[in-house]
Amino acid sequence: MSALPPDLSDDDIIRSLATGAPTTWIRNTPAEAALPDLGDMMDDAAARFDRFAPWFAATFPETATPAPGVSAALPESARSGGLIESPLVAAPAAHERLDGLFGTRLAGELWLKRDDALPVSGSIKARGGFHEVLEFAEAVAADHGLDAADPATYPSAEFREIAAVHRLVVGSTGNLGLSIGILGARLGFAASVHMSADAREWKKTMLRDHGVDVIEHAGDFVEAVEAGRVSAEADVKAHFVDDEDSVSLFVGYSVAALRLARQLEAAGVTVDADHRLVVYLPCGIGGGPGGVTFGLKRVFGDNVHCVFVEPSQAPAMFLGVRSGRHSDIAVQDIGLTGATAADGLAVARPSRFIGPTIGPLISGFASVPDDVIRAGVGVLHETEGIDVEPSATTGLSIPWRLGSATRTSTGTADAGGENLEASFPWPNVSTHLVWLTGGAMVPDDERSRYVAEGTRLMPMITSPASAIFID
Ligand SMILES: *Cc1c(COP(=O)(O)O)cnc(C)c1O
Repeated sequence: MSALPPDLSDDDIIRSLATGAPTTWIRNTPAEAALPDLGDMMDDAAARFDRFAPWFAATFPETATPAPGVSAALPESARSGGLIESPLVAAPAAHERLDGLFGTRLAGELWLKRDDALPVSGSIKARGGFHEVLEFAEAVAADHGLDAADPATYPSAEFREIAAVHRLVVGSTGNLGLSIGILGARLGFAASVHMSADAREWKKTMLRDHGVDVIEHAGDFVEAVEAGRVSAEADVKAHFVDDEDSVSLFVGYSVAALRLARQLEAAGVTVDADHRLVVYLPCGIGGGPGGVTFGLKRVFGDNVHCVFVEPSQAPAMFLGVRSGRHSDIAVQDIGLTGATAADGLAVARPSRFIGPTIGPLISGFASVPDDVIRAGVGVLHETEGIDVEPSATTGLSIPWRLGSATRTSTGTADAGGENLEASFPWPNVSTHLVWLTGGAMVPDDERSRYVAEGTRLMPMITSPASAIFID
């Protein structure tokens, strides 16, 4: 524990986090935690995706016909296709298998949000990343006197000539780079993706195949982002997509909530005070889960609880919010490595924007060991026939952890580890929604390796000896 900053060393939650052990912090969030004033921007983002739907349908034929389970998510105007959306599916077989592995029956129903299957770039980054690229495209079109609201503008020779001298720049561990690079290149922009050392080789190759410049960095994600920022500052025609601080990414992610509300309704799933929804979100820098949480709180208010889930060696948002230092603290400051097998989640320092803005809306944080994350791939493969990248499964075990683990309360007379009766932290929970965040782009050989490894590690999923802190 010598690595802990002295002023944090009294905090039981941070002490637990610093050991690398699975740690859970449930917050009694104020009933009326204030929503930041971003609702209009969220609605604008939804309208922007609707405007581009005909362009997507024409440019990416796989989006022209909505996948089964997706059309219910679409507004009337976009039923003809071209919306970037994923299915919502019930997962009774995974539910039963996990009940068996944990040895407890989880009350309520398990559902999966299949952002692993989002069209075009195969991860949740398609929501935020595409939105920022589209917003930039509209701004460039308008600046040059073109009709930005007309989807026919974008395939025109006039627009493409202008786009070719504009550059999108981003720093990424992989998936954000894929979404910005693929969509940017399709619109005719030049694109540079600065990648950290942990980025997968196949993601670099795929981007180069799309004509994107890939710049490799020996350091971590923060270094790649910084290099991208510096290179973009030197170029007036460059737009830097800032994963540490972008409102455009954020509102792009938030649109998911409007679509999910329609999907839940179409599936006959009620969300109200007697049927609460808990959503488990894999978290890296915080933008994706932060945007989705904002949207969900705006749509469902107190009837939804959002839990951010991170690898136990890279709990950047958890640490930032718990310590109150947000981006002024990194996981290395408490002796963790920041490394993980979960692509996209190897983030040591959280977003500058999400914790301070969205922190009060987050109902809980949980950290998960890599072996359990990887084992989730095996569970989903065997039970639901769904193959995802490991990071996508980060939230899968948490409903059982919340439902069955021994609790330790802090901030009450029970501090010190007294066992309380096990029960779910919130009343009337009837739906557990695990957000699957990536997978469709993973090449077959890598996918088989993930599945084999996940199947082998399935025994790692057992009732965890982890404390749940309620504060
Ligand atoms: C980026 C990513 C996340 C988390 O999003 P952040 O905005 O980094 O918090 C989760 N899963 C996958 C697969 C990702 O690529």
